[in-house]
Amino acid sequence: MRELAIYVHFPFCQKRCAYCDFPSSAGKEGLIPPYLAAVAREFAAEEVHWAESLFPTVFFGGGTPSLAPPDELIRLLETFRATGRLAEGAEVTLEANPGTVDRAKLAALRAAGFNRLSLGVQCRDDGLLKLLGRIHDRRQAEAAVADARSAGFANINLDLIFGLPGQTRQEWEATLKWAVGLGPTHLSCYGLQLEEGTPLAAAVASGQLRLPAEEETAGMMETAMVLLPEFGYEQYEISNYAKPGYACRHNQLYWERGDYLGLGAGACSTLGFLRWSNPADPEAYLRQMAVEGRPNRDLERLSDRQAVLEEIMLGLRLRRGLDKVAFARRRGPLENWVGEAARYLIAEGWLETAGPYLRLSQKAVLVSNAVIGRLCEALID
Ligand code: SF4
Repeated sequence: MRELAIYVHFPFCQKRCAYCDFPSSAGKEGLIPPYLAAVAREFAAEEVHWAESLFPTVFFGGGTPSLAPPDELIRLLETFRATGRLAEGAEVTLEANPGTVDRAKLAALRAAGFNRLSLGVQCRDDGLLKLLGRIHDRRQAEAAVADARSAGFANINLDLIFGLPGQTRQEWEATLKWAVGLGPTHLSCYGLQLEEGTPLAAAVASGQLRLPAEEETAGMMETAMVLLPEFGYEQYEISNYAKPGYACRHNQLYWERGDYLGLGAGACSTLGFLRWSNPADPEAYLRQMAVEGRPNRDLERLSDRQAVLEEIMLGLRLRRGLDKVAFARRRGPLENWVGEAARYLIAEGWLETAGPYLRLSQKAVLVSNAVIGRLCEALID
């Protein structure tokens, strides 16, 4: 049976963070119950897409899905389970903000089948957390991990951001050691992206805040790449590290360009060559669900070339690389698409082959966008 990952976008937060441009609104908690009910209706309306599938993973992302009452989240998970399509041992992830969880809430979710918790702790320093506009402090992050573990979550991810204003390589190293000390099974380490229109971008533009120099930020990424494996975390994707057996299956499916059904405002779906996105505004989404029974979508049919481009770009993010044999089965030999550029990048030491895989060399991981971009130049119309 075909595998189809389920993604639920939860577009509400308690408060907007200073760096964030994700589709999410604050102060609209009243919309949460009708919203999750609408997501369940959207899922039912999509039966044609999931009827022949098995769901290996379900991911509640946001926004801050942990802001929702646990009963509402559990009801939606039960809707998926009631189809009989949820795979045995499916990975069910909830993204959570440490400022919105307690032991009782986590225990209810764990008992209902959520088995992976992804906590947005972001950093260790209370001053930086405040500057980022996070609603939690370091003590709450530590308490959230302890509560999750005592509630029965064995699989816990911590999201971290490096390259923050005023952050040094030493401070980042201390943050990593602190995070490792909390004993997560998985760590996601992303460099700060300054998004236009955010308060943080404005503060940097006005000179009120200063970001670390580019070399300092690259050094922070290198620190993670050296330090985390020493503690048993394998870098399995450019920004993601896991203890053996704990790589995120849901995200792996994205990087392997598998099929996924996205539900809710702003969610995107990809089924083979078909892609669509729901309206980002939750109120527009709710209106369309009430009036038409499904959201108005931007539907797109991808060309062969676009699908190949995505497969290469995503596959090379994985440290094991792009599986050339599997690729050739779907799209013909990789050589026919990017042969010349691949040969050049291998000769220059940016790409390497390992068994059936084509992957970034160690030095290329630090400049991955430039290397992948160079490989794909020939494919971009
Ligand atoms: S909690 Fe997450 S999604 Fe919400 S505003 Fe902050 S960074 Fe954005």
